Amino acid sequence: MTVAILLGAPGAGKGTQAPLLSASLGVPVLASGDLLRSEVAAGSEIGREVDAIMQSGELVPDEVMVRLFLARLGRDDALGGAILDGFPRTRPQAEALDAALAASGRHVDKALLIEVPIEDLIGRFAGRRICKAGGHVYNDWFKPPKVWGICDVDGSELIHRADDAEATVRARMEQQLGPLRDVADYYREQGILVAVNGLQPIEDVARDLLAALGWHAAPTG
Ligand code: AMP
Repeated sequence: MTVAILLGAPGAGKGTQAPLLSASLGVPVLASGDLLRSEVAAGSEIGREVDAIMQSGELVPDEVMVRLFLARLGRDDALGGAILDGFPRTRPQAEALDAALAASGRHVDKALLIEVPIEDLIGRFAGRRICKAGGHVYNDWFKPPKVWGICDVDGSELIHRADDAEATVRARMEQQLGPLRDVADYYREQGILVAVNGLQPIEDVARDLLAALGWHAAPTG
């Protein structure tokens, strides 16, 4: 049983790594952003409350977030463990998570911090292009399409989203780094924070994250 928290700034690669960890460990990914977006899509009371906050890039109040996330963590599919992506984002959320896990005899095994220097993060976003039709994501440097400006999957045009412009990205990043440091410190104080070099190729980051959880791939050959 593994409860692991994936920490990293926007663009550090959490969204890429979470499914890889999930497949290796056989536990689900619980992503707070996805949970919130499904509430908004469903038009629920929480959804209506958080819609504008999410669009502004501010954090949803701890009390709302904790209630929603802990309810999800209590569902059957997460009883055998989970990868947490996007929660906790503040120290009070981390404390509420510890208390809830302790009440069911569980605990956070490791907090995994994917470290990428801020200038590299900004570069990652600034190079990002999205396809008009299906939202498929490319990057000028890291994942270029086969044909410049055209989506490999559906042939539609690739565009640069306005909110990926450098000034917006830098502001969003700085807004998020303070709370991220608080949460990383919280787990560092508990001795369960492991930092992994996020500048490595995807499969090497995945290998380091799994190794931090004590999971090693069977030798091949
Ligand atoms: P994400 O998909 O993780 O980037 O989250 C999208 C938005 O949801 C964030 O910009 C916040 O407004 C909100 N959000 C996600 N997770 C949390 C959290 N743990 N605490 C507060 N707000 C959150």
